[in-house]
Amino acid sequence: MSDSETAKAQLILAVRQGGVTDASVLAAMESIPRPMFVPQPFQDRSFENVALPIGRHQTVSQPMVVGLMTQALELNDRMKVLEIGTGSGYQAAILARLCRRLYTMERHPSLLEEAESRFRELRLTNVTAVLGDGSKGWKEQAPFDRIMLTAAAIDIPAQLVDQLAIGGIMVLPVGLDDSDQRLIKLVKTPDGAETEDMGAVRFVPLLPGVEPE
Ligand code: SAH
Repeated sequence: MSDSETAKAQLILAVRQGGVTDASVLAAMESIPRPMFVPQPFQDRSFENVALPIGRHQTVSQPMVVGLMTQALELNDRMKVLEIGTGSGYQAAILARLCRRLYTMERHPSLLEEAESRFRELRLTNVTAVLGDGSKGWKEQAPFDRIMLTAAAIDIPAQLVDQLAIGGIMVLPVGLDDSDQRLIKLVKTPDGAETEDMGAVRFVPLLPGVEPE
């Protein structure tokens, strides 16, 4: 094995040890090359199980957290999924491997553009990416079977719960302060929603509006 193959195998092992046991999630993570999503100065750390900067004060999440959040969505290839916070596109690429169609929203034009070129390079033809404020969701495409937020909301956004199908699952970091955020799994029921606390996490904040560029 080459050094990078060894590093990649070690990363997948770390993700498994972190609690990601779903074989389809692990296979999807193996199929998406993380170095493609990490800027040049951090290339040699792209197979480490850590979050890394992607520019514009944003980060690509720790692979273990990407795995746990993906697994919590219980995806299959018939599902329509919404991701808020495209960022580098890494999480989006993994979701796209596991669902029928992925809609992803980003508020930074330059990050969105770079992510879209990676989707093209990987021939991920089932991804639709747009510039927009994801906290409002994407009404025209709703309802979604699954929704994932990769930026922390102060509270569970009601507009996103509205856009989730009954029986649908939403996974999101919630919390004001980045030292006190919880990962929440929400299941929408006919008369409300059930939530489960999946533990402490640290995400960049969900911000209003779109960045000018
Ligand atoms: N899923 C990304 C993680 C990026 S960090 C990845 O795999 O790389 C979170 C992203 O959410 C940032 O790019 C940030 O610009 C974006 N973001 C924050 N608030 C947003 C909002 N209201 N709408 C859309 N994107 C938002």
